[in-house]
Amino acid sequence: MPLFGRKKNDEALRHTPEVATLPEPPATGPDGLRTLEQHRDYLLSCVEELMPFGQHVLDALGLSICEDVTSGIDLPRFDNTAMDGYAVRAADVQHATDVRPVRLPVVGEVPAGASAPHRLSPGTAMKIMTGAPIPADADAIVPYEATDRGSTDVTVNRASSPGQHIRRQGEDIGVGDLLLAAGSRIGVRDVGLLAAVGIDKVMVRPRPRVVVISTGSELVDPGLPLDPEQIYDSNSYLLAAAAKDAGAQVFRVGHVGDDPASLKQLVYDQLVRADLIITTGGVSQGDYDIVKAVMPELGATDFAAVAMQPGKPQGFGLIGEDRTPIVMLPGNPVSAFVSFEAFVRPVIRKLMGVTPYVRPGVRATAAHAMSSIPGRTQLARGVVRADDTGARSVELVGGHGSHLLGDLSKADALVVLPHDTDFVPAGTELEVWLLDQPR
Ligand code: AMP
Ligand code: MG
Repeated sequence: MPLFGRKKNDEALRHTPEVATLPEPPATGPDGLRTLEQHRDYLLSCVEELMPFGQHVLDALGLSICEDVTSGIDLPRFDNTAMDGYAVRAADVQHATDVRPVRLPVVGEVPAGASAPHRLSPGTAMKIMTGAPIPADADAIVPYEATDRGSTDVTVNRASSPGQHIRRQGEDIGVGDLLLAAGSRIGVRDVGLLAAVGIDKVMVRPRPRVVVISTGSELVDPGLPLDPEQIYDSNSYLLAAAAKDAGAQVFRVGHVGDDPASLKQLVYDQLVRADLIITTGGVSQGDYDIVKAVMPELGATDFAAVAMQPGKPQGFGLIGEDRTPIVMLPGNPVSAFVSFEAFVRPVIRKLMGVTPYVRPGVRATAAHAMSSIPGRTQLARGVVRADDTGARSVELVGGHGSHLLGDLSKADALVVLPHDTDFVPAGTELEVWLLDQPR
């Protein structure tokens, strides 16, 4: 039951020509494995940034801008008052004090959004509201607090100096100033700045449309009853949430059973709305590992053993007419998540044009000794603590089992136990990937 419109009928699907090829994959080591970094860089080399398009500034939040944006106006646009009060000539009130106040006739009013009715004559005052333009020939603002707030005449009891409480044209931003450089990611304050200079649309790279599919005949959607041999499909939710967090627009298709024809049809149907497809399950050595069996029929694929734990079996491809990237992750939930962080998040960032593509790790010292598998980069789950000086230490949570979702949710970091180590003494400085920090 296809969930989305098809591009072609089943006849065409059966005859999809297999013309696509992938770049030469990285050479493996003597153990037949490629490193995590080799695999990640390979995937990054196979995907291209999405084409820029014009987007409304609010919808551009979090997206990467593809043009230098300069200001067409000054900010402030004109000299205006920073306070509610009276526009005066400073010379008229330069000697005003509590005991010798100065009295001036009030000759007009300037609300925000209006201009002064006329120039300000010597010896007079004009009532003025915050943001209103300064009347010609006025050079200071006396705030209400320094007056009796009079309406026909005003008593000023504090001296003012020229320029006081006046916000000058262009003192913040000038015409032609660079506001955002191509390649930067639009943040909350940038949206405000763009609006302030009157820009309603910008050229950005879009959010990648990411389709998430899990495979496995044992899977059931949360909310439904389980038979004794069934389990809930956590991966499509976990990965959909992770992709959303990375900035994607996500379509969580849900799960498909271990049936080659249904999987092929489902993936094919999704191509029409996907910039990236993520599947889980079915890429290891089992008899029912159908993803590996079927996806080569839709395009060029690469199935690799990566020297990492968890997440050793990895699949990638460029499938369908548009050579849509597909990342095929292992089925164990922790493996799927770790693989997402290692490979899919960088791919999504590249599609979005958000740099750096690869998350920068931070340093933390091992709070206790840790064992590690030599010849594999281990991404263990950990909790990071910072002391008063900001120095971080990390402790492992739970075991190495890639089914331990409870431990994964307790963790706030992935701890990189390097490729060549089998033992990490307490106090060793390690790289960790902080999972909950805003990106
Ligand atoms: P596979 O890679 O398909 O052999 O799956 C490996 C393990 O992960 C098996 O125990 C599966 O039942 C489990 N698994 C696969 N897909 C999911 C999923 N979507 N949600 C939860 N567990 C899964
Ligand atoms: Mg399976």
